Amino acid sequence: MSNTATAIWEHADHDPDRIALRGDDGTGWTYAQLRGHVAAVTTQLTADGIGPGDRVLFVAPSVPEFAAGYYGIHAAGAIAVTANTMSPAPELEYIARDTGVSAVLGWHAVAPAPERVAAALGVPYRALHPDLAGLPPAAGPIRPHPTADDDTATIIYTSGTTGRPKGAQLSHGNFLACADAFRTVFDITADDRSGTALPLFHVYGQACVLGTAMRSGGSLSLLSRFDPERMLAMIGRDRLTFITGVPTMWNAMLHAAAADIDPADFASLRQASSGGASLPGEVLEAFRNRFGCAISEGYGLTETTSAATYQPADRPAKAGSVGRPLPGIEIVIRDFDGAELPPGETGEIFIRGPVVTKGYWNRPEATAEALHEGWLRTGDLGVFDADGDLRIAGRVKEMIIRGGYNVYPLEVEEVLYRHPDIVEATVVGVPDEHYGEEVAAALTLRPGADFDPIALREWTKQQLSAYKVPRLFAVLDELPKGPSGKILKNALDSAIFADVA
Ligand code: ATP
Repeated sequence: MSNTATAIWEHADHDPDRIALRGDDGTGWTYAQLRGHVAAVTTQLTADGIGPGDRVLFVAPSVPEFAAGYYGIHAAGAIAVTANTMSPAPELEYIARDTGVSAVLGWHAVAPAPERVAAALGVPYRALHPDLAGLPPAAGPIRPHPTADDDTATIIYTSGTTGRPKGAQLSHGNFLACADAFRTVFDITADDRSGTALPLFHVYGQACVLGTAMRSGGSLSLLSRFDPERMLAMIGRDRLTFITGVPTMWNAMLHAAAADIDPADFASLRQASSGGASLPGEVLEAFRNRFGCAISEGYGLTETTSAATYQPADRPAKAGSVGRPLPGIEIVIRDFDGAELPPGETGEIFIRGPVVTKGYWNRPEATAEALHEGWLRTGDLGVFDADGDLRIAGRVKEMIIRGGYNVYPLEVEEVLYRHPDIVEATVVGVPDEHYGEEVAAALTLRPGADFDPIALREWTKQQLSAYKVPRLFAVLDELPKGPSGKILKNALDSAIFADVA
């Protein structure tokens, strides 16, 4: 049976000199070189006793060597347990013990945490160096170990709403389904040159970005750390056609782009894909005007191998909407009693289809709670409009209940982003004696902007019902963000907000 690693083998046979991956400095690996590097990792792992079904902890940033390590694990028939490069040793050790890994593979510069974990567990540690230096070459013309679609390829931990982090198992079939859906709706072929600064240890980078590029046989340019200027330069350098990112990245690129940028540098770009968090309509518009490239917003979770929806490219993108389900995916909205809701009514989003996880590693109860007859309970709120497009209203747990009224933070954030002085905004509920919860906004402002909370409140009141208008504000230099660039609401302490009432 095929998987993404076998696709690399096929491209290396048919088009060995085509560039597969480029790193920070722009130098690339061809498909033939990539296959050689993947095979070298597989050879090493096999020599270390790793075989089908074994788990290997893998910690690496977005460099070409990530693909060598990742698909090297898959080609050995083993399961890649990918973890954040910033995770301290205790977090990695929890993941490694939970999955019972038999080896640890880590990018040399991430040391010492992965190495320490390997020592604590008494399993081999292998460091990946640039161009796989130091690893013996592959033992002859090996082939990837055959896998079934339902075999687990990767385990990715999500913190979830309750309890300790859980490892979502994603199968080879899940990854192929994601890549094929993306290839279909965005017409991605071997001629495409994709680019990203997303972390590949996260599902979005791994499935939609790396998986799609490797399946289609195109090239993928990687930035190991997001920097808006370097991202803009990479588009021109590699004449990228398709870029992926999260909303904070598009916003940063808009603010970093000099007024006199040359539109010719962006002429190759035909499509951008955004996910992970809500894309403010203002950013969508500004990006299209500035770079002449539409952003298609999608929505998904680790448990759906990233994107489950997309905005069709053949119509103007609809601000505030995440579009429709990707081919083969079903989405329904249910109330809290489980009854399906019609368009126009907000409820919890349920997803079914070939991208949905088969369950959490060693967590039968959590799996039973999340999955029922193939439907994944997402913990997110959403509503379909009359055209069949989905709008996300935020997470169930982040909904603010103020004096008995439901306030969806995303709706308030959309309005704040329209304010000319606001660069970034996030809205949370803080405990309030009178209303139970009060609406609070944390903001970053344009340099030199004068913050007048009373005026901002009045401005917001003209666009939102009174109970949705933030009463508490905090102006910060930067909003707390996770490794994929998502704003972390739960890192905001209620005490930072000043009451302007
Ligand atoms: P963790 O579970 O580790 O805390 P996380 O919940 O962010 O992290 P992911 O699976 O990375 O886990 O992210 C999925 C969540 O991201 C979704 O449940 C949803 O809340 C949010 N999300 C993804 N795409 C969008 C989007 N386009 N608009 C709004 N929210 C989105």
